[in-house]
Amino acid sequence: MTSGAVEAARNILTRLHEVMASRNHAQAKLNTVVEVIGECLNSEVCSIYLLREGMLELFATRGLAQEAVHVTRMAVGEGLVGMIADRIETLNLAEAAAHPDFSYRPETGEDRFHSFAGVPIVRRERAAGVLCVQHVEPRRYEEVEIEALQTVAMVLSELITNADLVDEVDVHALGAAQTGPEQLRGLTLVKGLASGQAVYHQPRVNIEHVVAEDTEAERQRVIHAFDKMREQIDRMASQAEFGMGGEHDEVLDTYRMFAYDEGWTRRINEAIDSGLTAEAAIERVQQRTRMRMRQIDDPLLADRMHDLEDLANRLLRIVSGQIGTAASLGLRNDAILIARNLGPAELLEYDKRRLKGVILEEGSLTSHVVIVARAMGIPVLGRVRGLRGVVREGDQLLLDADQATATVRPLAGVVEAFEARFAKSRQRQAAYAALREVQPTTRDGTRIQVMINAGLRDDIANLSLTGADGIGLFRTEFQFLVSATLPSRERQTRLYREVMDAAGDKPVKFRTVDIGGDKTLPYLRHDDGEGEENPAMGWRALRVALEREGLLKVQARALLEAAGGRTLHVMFPLVAEPWEFDQAKAVFDKQLAFLRSQRKQLPEAIHYGVMLEVPALAEQLDLLAPKISFLSIGTNDLTQFLFAADRANPKLAERYDWVSPAILRFLRRVIRSLDGHNVEIAVCGEMGGRRLEALALLGLGIRRLSITPASVGPTKDLVSKVDLGEIGAAMEQWLAHPPEDMRAALTAWALERDISVD
Ligand code: PEP
Ligand code: MG
Repeated sequence: MTSGAVEAARNILTRLHEVMASRNHAQAKLNTVVEVIGECLNSEVCSIYLLREGMLELFATRGLAQEAVHVTRMAVGEGLVGMIADRIETLNLAEAAAHPDFSYRPETGEDRFHSFAGVPIVRRERAAGVLCVQHVEPRRYEEVEIEALQTVAMVLSELITNADLVDEVDVHALGAAQTGPEQLRGLTLVKGLASGQAVYHQPRVNIEHVVAEDTEAERQRVIHAFDKMREQIDRMASQAEFGMGGEHDEVLDTYRMFAYDEGWTRRINEAIDSGLTAEAAIERVQQRTRMRMRQIDDPLLADRMHDLEDLANRLLRIVSGQIGTAASLGLRNDAILIARNLGPAELLEYDKRRLKGVILEEGSLTSHVVIVARAMGIPVLGRVRGLRGVVREGDQLLLDADQATATVRPLAGVVEAFEARFAKSRQRQAAYAALREVQPTTRDGTRIQVMINAGLRDDIANLSLTGADGIGLFRTEFQFLVSATLPSRERQTRLYREVMDAAGDKPVKFRTVDIGGDKTLPYLRHDDGEGEENPAMGWRALRVALEREGLLKVQARALLEAAGGRTLHVMFPLVAEPWEFDQAKAVFDKQLAFLRSQRKQLPEAIHYGVMLEVPALAEQLDLLAPKISFLSIGTNDLTQFLFAADRANPKLAERYDWVSPAILRFLRRVIRSLDGHNVEIAVCGEMGGRRLEALALLGLGIRRLSITPASVGPTKDLVSKVDLGEIGAAMEQWLAHPPEDMRAALTAWALERDISVD
C-alpha cells in the first residue's frame, strides 16, 4: 500500500470502528457505513449490495434514491454490480454507461453519475455482496481509493457475518452460480469414481476480526508468526533426507524466498498500520497479490503464486492459532481431499469412511502416498494444474479417475450421468469380487499365484475379501509411519502375529523396514542432521536398518517371536550387494540363537528373500541365489533407477513406460539368470497390478504377482483369458525386434483375443 492508501484506509477504519462498536441495528450501521465511505472518498454515491435469496439486493445507499433500497435487485452476472460478484473482481470505470455490461435502473436515479468503482465483499472465497461508489464527474478512482474500498469490503464482510445479513445457504447457492461447473484434467494415479465435497488438506483460515483494537499488538503477532513460520521452513529443509524429493526442494527454496521477503512483511505491516488485525492484513495483501497475478498469464508465475498462497495460509494459521489439517478437524461428509501433495502418513490420518477421493496438484504413480491410497481403495487424480485456483472448500466434486477428470460444481444432468457410471462401476467391482473363490489359472492350465500387498492391520481383511493367495509384500514400515514414536517390540510382535493369524495357511512375506526416500519418520533423523541431495538413492531401507542395527534387531526379534511354531518369510529391501543380505541375515541368526537360548518357541521354518530394486544386484544374482528362497522384484524402485527417473517427481510421471523393451528385456535377463536355481520369483511393484503390464509379465515368465487388492479381481479375470504359450512366443518376438510402440503392439494383441487390458 502507498502511504496515501494507508492514511485513507486508516481514516475510514477509525470511523468504521466506531460504527461497528455502536449498538445500532445492522441496517442502521450499513446506512452509516455508506455515509462514512462516501465522505471519506469524496463520492456522491456509495452503495452496498448484499446477496439475499440468490439476488444482489441494494441494502444501503448514499446518493441513490432511498426508495430503491431493498427494491433494486439484480442477478449475479447482471449489470456491473452483478459482474463484480460473478467474477469476484474489482471494477474501476470513468464512464460506467460506456461499459457493455452496464444495466440502467431508473428507480435509483443513477443516470447523473458517470464514474463507477466497485469491489466484491468476499466471504469464504465467495462474493457475498458488492460495495461501490459513483461520482458525477467522469474520473477513474485512484489506486489509493480502490485499496481503501477493498479494505472496507473486508470490514463489511465481518459486519454482515456477525449481523447474519446474508445467510449460509445463499453463499453456497451462489457458489455454483458464480463460476459454474468446471472440468479438471489430470493423470490417473488410482482408478475409481467418487463424489463428495472438496476439503482442503490445509484448511483456509476464517478471519473473525478485521478491525484492530491495538495496532502494536497486531504488529507483534505478525512478527512472531513470521519467526515461527521461518523456523518451520528451516526445519522442513533440514529434514530433507526424508523429504519428498524432486520438486520438493524447489518448493522449499521458493518458500524460503517468500518467507524472508521483506516486501511481503512490509506490505502486511502497512495494512496493519491502516487499522487491520494481523489476520486481515495478511489476507488483504494476499487479495491484492491475487488480483495482480490474475492479470499475468504465465504458468510459471501461477505456480509461484500457489507457493505464496500456501505460505500466506500457513502464516494465517499460525497467527490465528487455527492449526491442524482437515484430518485433525475431522471430516463431516463424504469428502474429496484437495492438496498440492501429501505424505503417506498424512493420508492415513483421515477417516476412511468419509474420505472418498483425492485430487493432487502433484503426485506420481509410485509415490508412497499413492500406493497407500491404492491400498485403501481411494481413487486419486494427480497432476491437476491450477487445482487450488478452481476448487473452493465445500464445492461439490465428481471425481472420475478412470477418465482422468473431475467435475467441479457439476450441473444436475452431469451428476445423473455420473451416478449411472458409478453404479456400473460398482457392478463391475461386484463381478470381480465374485471371482473371490476362483483360482487364477491360465487357458493352458497354469496356476498363477496372485497375492496382495499390505502394510496395515486393516489391510488384512483384503486377504479373504479378494481370495488372494497370500501377502506377497507386507510393508512393515507403515506401522512406523502411522506412529508418533518408534513402535515398541511388543507392538511390532502383536501386529505381525495378528497378520499371520489372519493369513492362516497363506504365506505373508514381511519386508523389513523401508524408511527414507518419500517415507519420512519425524522421530528418526539422520545422525548428522544434514539433508540429502537424492533421498531415494540415499540413506534408506536396509541401509538405515544395518547402520541402526538396533532397529533391525528389534524387528527381527518381533518377527521371529511372532512366527513361533509356523513358517516365517522375511525379505530385505533395496539390497544392492550380496554382503548386505548376509549382514541382515546375520542379525536374524543372532536373534534366533538368543531365542533358542531362552527356550522360546522358534519358527518352524524361515524363508529368506530379497527385493530386487537396485539394478546392480541383477549382475550378482548367481552369487545370492544359493542363499535365498525367493526374490521379489520391486519395479517401483527398480524402474526409477533403470531410467534414472525419480519415482516421486511428478514431472517424470508420464515419461517412461513400464511396457518398454528396456524394462522387459531387463526383467527377462533377471528371470533367466535364476534358471536352475531354487528361487521363487515374484513381482511386487505397482506394475503388476495393471492389466497390460501383468500380461507382459506373464509373457516374460512371471508366475507370481503381488498387487494392490483392488487389482486382484481384474487380474484373475485376465489370467483366465491368457494362453501362456502364445503370449510367451509373442514376447520373444517383440523383444528380439521391438516394435516402435510396445504398448500399442501389446494392446492390439490383447484386443484381438478379446482380452480387456484397460
Ligand atoms: C518397489 O519398490 O517396487 C516396492 C514394491 O517397494 P516400495 O514401493 O515400498 O518402495
Ligand atoms: Mg521399493
